[in-house]
Amino acid sequence: MTENKPGKVTMEKLVSLCQRRGFIFPSSDIYGGLSACWDYGPVGVELKRNIKEAWWRANVQERDDMVGLDTSILMNPKVWEASGHVTQFSDPLVECKSCHQRWRADDLTENKCPACGGELTDPQQFNLMFKTFMGPVEEAANTVYLRPETAQGIFVNFQNALNTSRKRLPFGVAQIGKAFRNEITTGNFIFRSREFEQMEIEFFVKPGSDDKWFDYWVEERLNWYVKLGIRKDNIQLREHGEDELAHYSRKCFDIEYNFPMGWAELEGVANRGDFDLKQHMEYSGKGITCLDEETKEHIVPYVIEPSAGVDRSVLAVLCDAYDEEIVNDELRVLFHFHTDLAPIKVAILPLSRKENLSAVAKEVYADLRPCFVTQYDDTQAIGRRYRRQDELGTPYCVTVDFQSLEDKMATIRERDTMNQIRVPIAALRDTLSAKLGGEDLFVLPEGGQIWKEEKKEV
Ligand code: ATP
Repeated sequence: MTENKPGKVTMEKLVSLCQRRGFIFPSSDIYGGLSACWDYGPVGVELKRNIKEAWWRANVQERDDMVGLDTSILMNPKVWEASGHVTQFSDPLVECKSCHQRWRADDLTENKCPACGGELTDPQQFNLMFKTFMGPVEEAANTVYLRPETAQGIFVNFQNALNTSRKRLPFGVAQIGKAFRNEITTGNFIFRSREFEQMEIEFFVKPGSDDKWFDYWVEERLNWYVKLGIRKDNIQLREHGEDELAHYSRKCFDIEYNFPMGWAELEGVANRGDFDLKQHMEYSGKGITCLDEETKEHIVPYVIEPSAGVDRSVLAVLCDAYDEEIVNDELRVLFHFHTDLAPIKVAILPLSRKENLSAVAKEVYADLRPCFVTQYDDTQAIGRRYRRQDELGTPYCVTVDFQSLEDKMATIRERDTMNQIRVPIAALRDTLSAKLGGEDLFVLPEGGQIWKEEKKEV
């Protein structure tokens, strides 16, 4: 029985819908999963790719002062000595003396086990980097780490990127890639996992101009989320206190999202000063500098780092787009994804499976597919197929019916309003392209007509 009451998004609803519709599954599901690891399904992978592509477009391809990199996950272990991760990248761990569950000491409000109330051990520093061995011999000398952040791949390539791209200060280097952290406490779905993806920028600036660029990037990054449809009042900034700042950080703001479990970090923007480049100069013995155009001196730049999580962005987009409403006494669940992010842009829904109708619908499908991610679905009653597409967040459904055989027209139904227009099949491609670009549904092509106007409030 459908619950007949629209409600707010909760983590339980999201997890279940994501699994049912193919967004996200527990990793190694048939073996009972693996703690804090997740797999993106057929629809989830499209959503995640769209988020990464939107980020790459805005931060690399549409800017003159940025280049991209894709560096390896395994790096020379000296990198992690230089960066401070070997000695400092740890959380305080406590263990319950009764049930042996482990906790992050700084997450606890009381000095007893949250699971059973038992007594806790004294905190010990636990390094969050995953270790493995390179080559066939498993000995300490062959230890390598799975990178806990993508940033260091950028710092160690600073000179390569600078020399080959011929950029001048200020300029940035961006990277998207996997990172691994052996987190003590995980949870909240994909919010905190042990394997995740980051989208990081290291923006190199002349010392003295760092405060200005810091403010610029905070603003720029906030706007990026809003442009992709995240509601402004679900985003806030939080400045790190002195005691919270990482060892490399001069200043840091978290961009927080109002997740179902409360406000939490979506992205961190930090002023890392010249810490990283200087450390790598010292540990590698190589000069890492660039020319200050004004003084003609070689300097070590400061760096502003906007560091975002891909998976946390996916979660924020899912939470923000989730909606429930009552339509004809039934609960309608939908994702109001921004059209750039929607995993499927157009669904082709022939009214029946009759051959003459399928033939036309398949022609439409073949025509639209090269332009938009399009899905063909002829499985159930039309109403149920609309609801399925709503749950996938598909912005437009195209229905081909028996009248289409006569008048060579098809219906476009808009996800958010459920309004419908009827347009010549020959105009479908251009019309959908305009709508996906933000044009109002009721702007009609030649020969088009308003077909069905829902009176409900959206
Ligand atoms: P937190 O305080 O939540 O542990 P952090 O401050 O350690 O995060 P950063 O080192 O600043 O995180 O990493 C940059 C971004 O990478 C974070 O804003 C987040 O989006 C993402 N991130 C970090 N750790 C995880 C994780 N375990 N799972 C998913 N995303 C993560």
